[in-house]
Amino acid sequence: MTNKPGTLNPNTTYQKLPDGEEPIGLFVSPSQYVQGRGVIRLIGEYLSLCVSGGAGVVITPGRDRVLGETIRRSLEAAGLSVRTTVFQGESTLAEAERIAAFFRSPGHAVNALIGVGGGKCLDATRMAASRLAVPAVTVPTTASTDSPTAAHSVVYDQSGVFVDLEFCATNPLLVLVDLEIIAEAPPRYLVAGMGDAFSTFYEARCCMENPAARTARGGRPTMAALAIARQCRDVLLDYGAAALEEIKGRRKGEALARIAEANILLSGIGFESGGLAGAHGVAQGLTVCEDLHKNCLHGELVAIGVLAQLILEKRMEEARQAAGFFKAVGLPLHLGQLGFDPDRRSADLDAIVQSSLGVFFTHYEPFKLTADLLKAAVLDADAFGRAMA
Ligand SMILES: [Zn+2]
Repeated sequence: MTNKPGTLNPNTTYQKLPDGEEPIGLFVSPSQYVQGRGVIRLIGEYLSLCVSGGAGVVITPGRDRVLGETIRRSLEAAGLSVRTTVFQGESTLAEAERIAAFFRSPGHAVNALIGVGGGKCLDATRMAASRLAVPAVTVPTTASTDSPTAAHSVVYDQSGVFVDLEFCATNPLLVLVDLEIIAEAPPRYLVAGMGDAFSTFYEARCCMENPAARTARGGRPTMAALAIARQCRDVLLDYGAAALEEIKGRRKGEALARIAEANILLSGIGFESGGLAGAHGVAQGLTVCEDLHKNCLHGELVAIGVLAQLILEKRMEEARQAAGFFKAVGLPLHLGQLGFDPDRRSADLDAIVQSSLGVFFTHYEPFKLTADLLKAAVLDADAFGRAMA
């Protein structure tokens, strides 16, 4: 069996039933997670605990100007040789191949590949690391999504349209979150990360309760993942609003630290090992509208998805709590806040519903989902959100 990068699909293995009946439980996570103020200055020391030889750096141009020298110095001080390539802006297969080719050229060989930047830079780094058969290290520069801990990348085409997911053999060797860097990002990114993270528990619970549901890599969710997902939601409810105040005031306090961990680590493990369901199905459906795809951050769409999922599941008390939280941190509660008027765009709404139904994990909701049912849930969530706004 070949596991050529780009063709690996762990689902074919993990969905097997070893005894012919019972699916397996599966938990995956990054090997190490380091979070703190100024940790970027020690990246070489952390990495040299498990890697020697060469370290490759893939970094966005803006970050290279601000952080590139600090990272290179730290890696070299720890005895690692360093090669850097600047990320070209899109997580495409061509970019992954370009990065891999750069580090295959004579004198550039590396034993680990470090991505420094936003989600797309980290995704391309992960795919290139797979091709080079070396571990990936991710250094997210915002807390806007939960993807840095994961073992798969999102592939786009050159114009930024979603193409596919690509599975990597393993999760990152190290995820490094420097709170000084996270605190410099615009508050909207932290808030969007909270929207992405808030869905984690509800989706993991849905998967746990539905025996047919599987996680991203094809196993059944574990209790560990569900506990982490629940903790993620509780931290958001307790510290989300305070973290927003801290980041607006450019303070790096306790609340911001907790929310960074919730958005990146708790949510990351929670979704990858807990599974996705209606909230992300609706969020993905919303991206069929070009204006929503272009103008909204992932977590903002997920917030709308959370309300639709909870209303679909008739969990009204939780829907109220979610809406209250979204309002407190400035996440959208209804489609109007995304600039989408469902009364005037019924064809778009139908396209959103069809696209959501085309996502397999939308069907992990615990009953047979039809277009009418899902459309009604999206509209009910919109009306509910407007009443709560
Ligand atoms: Zn997400």
